[in-house]
Amino acid sequence: MSLPTTDVKTEDLSAQTAKTKQLIVQKFGGSSVSDAEGIKRVARRVVDAQKAGNEVVVVVSAMGDTTDELLDLAAQVTDSAPAREMDMLLSAGERISMALLAMAINKFGASAQSFTGSQAGMITDGIHGKARIIDVDPHRIRTALDKGHIAIVAGFQGMTRSTREITTLGRGGSDTTAVALAAALEADVCEIYTDVDGIYTADPRVVSTATKIDRISSEEMLELAASGAKILHLRCVEYARRFGVPLHVRSSFSQNEGTWVLPSADDKITIQEGVALEQPIISGVAHDRSEAKVTVVGVPDIPGKAAAIFQVIAKAHSNIDMIVQNVSTHGTGRTDISFTLPIVEGADALTALRAAQPEIGFESIEYNENVGKLSLIGAGMRSHPGVSATFFKALSDAGININMISTSEIRISVVTHADLLDDAVRAIHKAFELDGESEATVYGGTGR
Ligand code: ASP
Ligand code: MG
Repeated sequence: MSLPTTDVKTEDLSAQTAKTKQLIVQKFGGSSVSDAEGIKRVARRVVDAQKAGNEVVVVVSAMGDTTDELLDLAAQVTDSAPAREMDMLLSAGERISMALLAMAINKFGASAQSFTGSQAGMITDGIHGKARIIDVDPHRIRTALDKGHIAIVAGFQGMTRSTREITTLGRGGSDTTAVALAAALEADVCEIYTDVDGIYTADPRVVSTATKIDRISSEEMLELAASGAKILHLRCVEYARRFGVPLHVRSSFSQNEGTWVLPSADDKITIQEGVALEQPIISGVAHDRSEAKVTVVGVPDIPGKAAAIFQVIAKAHSNIDMIVQNVSTHGTGRTDISFTLPIVEGADALTALRAAQPEIGFESIEYNENVGKLSLIGAGMRSHPGVSATFFKALSDAGININMISTSEIRISVVTHADLLDDAVRAIHKAFELDGESEATVYGGTGR
């Protein structure tokens, strides 16, 4: 019989291991695994994380620009690829990187197994090209971890439940795969590795003195992502917020601590020596060049016309962003309605609107792709007056003309001429004193 003291000691030890052993989901984007060297670099990092005593699940994107190259190839073969075959093609990109990463890890002395999205239990709806995850059954991943393996999962893909068709989640979807897996496995953290050190107060490619944000609430991150900050996929942030998954966005090229995206705004408050530091008023500036502005001119100012216009747009499957209706020009009984939508959806929306012109009775349509959107985001706006005053004064001092304005509780957005957008971003960044002392490091790639 063993001595009671020994028992106590053993118990203590196992309690300690249980506490420090974490389940980490790590996601590496295409720029982190763009060649064999990159794959080996990532493999070393993953092995280190396991050696530190953690269970590690890795989600990978396709190598470098593979997805774009596959899209180009398909376009050379046909201009009307069946959506099902497109998903078969695109899902191959992630299969390449997952297998190579597993090989590299095995070479470095740890053991890894790779899994396709369907093997990993990513169940989606059947909308090819932009499928949504409806369930995750990660039992094969759990078993692999229990056997001491590192599990590598192909990002961006899944399978429908009943018909077992292969689907993809839409561009940039690997982030969402990682968060969904982290939620299903009840991981302690989901680490999103990219080619910058974290989330910055503005795109460091535009504002070289942008500063890294240490912590941000998922509410603010949602607004940043929706406003064009390309570093995280919007759906991944929504998913993380809904399931309470803490995200850590960091660089795969450095060991630096990145940005924590925390599900609750309260988590953001740092307690230092018993003092709660208030969160900053502004978290950052985002910009977006991917939208066009449509103005429907001379709409009869009577009930039902706006509804008719937006029904037409909805039927064309366009996602509207900002909407502005002017006061009706005195005496004419007509008004103008402007809105923005993604440039890629512009042509379809215009065709649909033109077809509906006789019925709705507007005079004409103006369409402008030469616009850009700038957004200032910060949860502190709710309780701090004067933010809009500073914002519009800075734009006016910089001589920037505003086309449209829209706001939420924690965001102010404006549309300007595309050529003035970078200047506008820098002016706003400066006016809110977001500039840091040193230049931000961009390790390469495009921010994805
Ligand atoms: N490879 C896919 C894409 O480029 C998914 C991803 O990178 O997240 O869209
Ligand atoms: Mg990619």
